[in-house]
Amino acid sequence: MSIMDRFSMRGKVSVVTGGNRGIGRAIARGLAEAGSAIAIAARDENQTAEAVEELRRLGIEAIGIRADVSDREDLEAMAEEVGRALGPIDVLVNNAGIGMHANALTLADEEWERLFAINLEGVWKASQIVGRRMVSNGRGSIINIGSISGLIVNRPQWHSPYGIAKAAVHHLTRSLAAEWAQSGVRVNAIAPGYVKTEIASDEYEAYGHYWRDEVPMQRYATPEEIAPIALLLASDASSFITGSVIVADGGYTLW
Ligand code: NDP
Repeated sequence: MSIMDRFSMRGKVSVVTGGNRGIGRAIARGLAEAGSAIAIAARDENQTAEAVEELRRLGIEAIGIRADVSDREDLEAMAEEVGRALGPIDVLVNNAGIGMHANALTLADEEWERLFAINLEGVWKASQIVGRRMVSNGRGSIINIGSISGLIVNRPQWHSPYGIAKAAVHHLTRSLAAEWAQSGVRVNAIAPGYVKTEIASDEYEAYGHYWRDEVPMQRYATPEEIAPIALLLASDASSFITGSVIVADGGYTLW
């Protein structure tokens, strides 16, 4: 097997939650370019249809599934549908997530619960549902999109629930990696710094000093810079990596 063959995703089936825009869309495209069939799961069906069309134009088998990651029934139906349409799932990318700027003194319980239902419980439920299938097949790679917000406290915005949930995603990654290590299923995470998407949109340009100028590389990442890391973790190129959280932040957490 050549070194490049280790990165090949030919014959594999990957599911990317939140794959209809931003980081997830770039990851879905990257895995597709490497040969994987792709299922994109998200809520906005028009946006998903557009992303699926882009993948089909590459000659890749791709389907879109309407699913809310906070809803267990949606996730069960998603796993069933992917199995029927594309075959057993080799790769799950738990990317779907929301941002939320929140003052700890005034945050309502409902907002806290909404963020955790999507950013943490969505990762847990999808991992459990797809993980059961992967463990029984004896193979699989799960990639969780964490964040530097799970490693440090961001500034100048306050968003403690976001950071707390991402820190939990990193530990969920390590916990499941250990539990499933002998079953052929690897679980890893990527912790990006600020990436230019809707979550870090121009609306927040006033924060540019902290989010961009204080990064040693002095810029945002693009979603396309996160996709190759997902390919590494999805493919046999990382066959001995499990329980890792790969930081991709232009050096932000060095200071
Ligand atoms: P975007 O807002 O651009 O995309 C978010 C994606 O998640 C969309 O596809 C959206 O689709 C989907 N999504 C949101 N809620 C749900 C839900 N309940 N069920 C299913 N899908 C959902 O965000 P990014 O691409 O920036 O972020 C992607 C991931 O990367 C997130 O987990 C985020 O926390 C993380 N991240 C982002 C960073 C950044 O600077 N951008 C930095 C570090 C981490 P739809 O609305 O159609 O459901």
